[in-house]
Amino acid sequence: MPDTLTVVERRSFPRGGTADRFDLAGRSVFVAGHAGMVGRALVRRLSAEPCRLLTVDRGTLDLRRPDAVRAWMDAHRPDVVIVAAARVGGILANATEPVDFLADNLAIANAVIPAAHAAGTRKLLYLGSSCIYPRDAPQPISEAALLTGPLEPTNQWYALAKIAGVKLCEAYRRQFGFDAITAMPTNLYGPGDRFDPERGHVLPALMAKAHRAKRDGTGCLEVWGTGTPRREFLHVDDLADGLVHLLTRYSGPEPVNIGTGTDIAIAELAELICETVGFRGRIGYRSDRPDGTPRKRLDTFRMRSLGWQPRIDLADGIAQTYAWYRDHVAMDEDSLHPTG
Ligand code: GDP
Repeated sequence: MPDTLTVVERRSFPRGGTADRFDLAGRSVFVAGHAGMVGRALVRRLSAEPCRLLTVDRGTLDLRRPDAVRAWMDAHRPDVVIVAAARVGGILANATEPVDFLADNLAIANAVIPAAHAAGTRKLLYLGSSCIYPRDAPQPISEAALLTGPLEPTNQWYALAKIAGVKLCEAYRRQFGFDAITAMPTNLYGPGDRFDPERGHVLPALMAKAHRAKRDGTGCLEVWGTGTPRREFLHVDDLADGLVHLLTRYSGPEPVNIGTGTDIAIAELAELICETVGFRGRIGYRSDRPDGTPRKRLDTFRMRSLGWQPRIDLADGIAQTYAWYRDHVAMDEDSLHPTG
């Protein structure tokens, strides 16, 4: 072979090592973090499966405490564990509470993964995030980009903890043959999100701000940064469906991205939200707030080759999420603002 020849690997993805089809029938499935947005979606989705759901309230079990988690796992011996518990928040929350984002997420991984293994769990699914990839990763971001460059500084704390969790799963598989798999969801939204203008992610934050601006007759919706960064948004019910698909059809050390493969600029997202909410005022861009990573679109080749794709269109998902927000969050708030 001449030295000038560069041989490139052909693209393929193993369809699962030990178990091509992992059957959930009759199994006990522990959803760690069942009260969060992802956990709630998983509980909804898993209720359609012939499995037995296990959950535990935060007041009863602190998922950051290894001894307590170990005792709980030993007592309940779940067949399957899904780690949907995490401390999450938007770009500002991440930047201002670095200890919480790093320490809590490390502690959850370090308590739940070893305890599940010790209790004889057959399969574990750990959730990472698209922010674990390098800030300047080539787009769309493939799973192979992990640890190939520096992280985006605004969410490095959360990202580092999630990388440690992903690697802990890989290490348990390598050292003990534990069937721990990892999924990397893109930016999520949906019912049960944190509709907090300061600490939430962009989609629920803008929804809450647009709703209030319309109600209060404020002329301007405040959007952070320049509006030019691009993000990919996946409805949490699509994620839950994708996770169940992955759980039943995949076993292997490589992480698997879960996204739509399509991104939009934050400015376009703001327009879409204004349309849904019916806010007709102006949009103002706040330059003292960070843009974060310029682009974050996942390569979804692996998930597609496993036979899965999302179903919920972004405009429909936003409309459905806004209806949920109005019924579950805004109603109480609006009653305190009778002018609306
Ligand atoms: P990220 O994907 O980790 O950066 O998380 P976010 O969802 O918090 O932010 C996504 C993008 O939306 C960033 O470029 C933010 O600057 C931008 N953005 C615009 N307005 C807002 C807002 O009101 N809240 C948040 N969290 N982000 C906003």
